[in-house]
Amino acid sequence: MKKIVLSTMVISLLALLACKEKQPAQMEVVEVQSIFPKGNLGPAELFTGNAYNYGLVPIDSTMTTLVGNVYFEPGARSNWHTHPSGQILIITDGEGFHQIEGQPKEILKKGSVVKCPPKAKHWHGASPTTGMQQIYIVPNTEQGIVNWMEPVTDVVYNQ
Ligand code: MN
Repeated sequence: MKKIVLSTMVISLLALLACKEKQPAQMEVVEVQSIFPKGNLGPAELFTGNAYNYGLVPIDSTMTTLVGNVYFEPGARSNWHTHPSGQILIITDGEGFHQIEGQPKEILKKGSVVKCPPKAKHWHGASPTTGMQQIYIVPNTEQGIVNWMEPVTDVVYNQ
């Protein structure tokens, strides 16, 4: 009986030590899961940092809706821009921001849904430390898709 108790204690101690050793490594790694392929790197004149686009539903005259996925690496964000008939964002993993000009920065995380109104000047992107996966939906593409503007400065991004 004593032997069983002792060996149980030893095993518990070893398990405790093993757990403690693993903890720092687990806290450093922030993995962002992806449902879709990574896609193509967005052009540097439209994005700060690395953002990858993967098209899901191409534009056509029947659905008039554009759907795709963007993966923003940590710190990456779009330039300021507008959508003639607005945009819906669905965040599937990671952390990031969405900001309409003149309004506070909105924090996004897995499960966030954003409705950006037509013609509202805005930007979206990842947090400084964690990437972000977003599905975007642009309706009424016959009115246009996006009008690109200037980059989001570090001062605005870090506000
Ligand atoms: Mn947008």
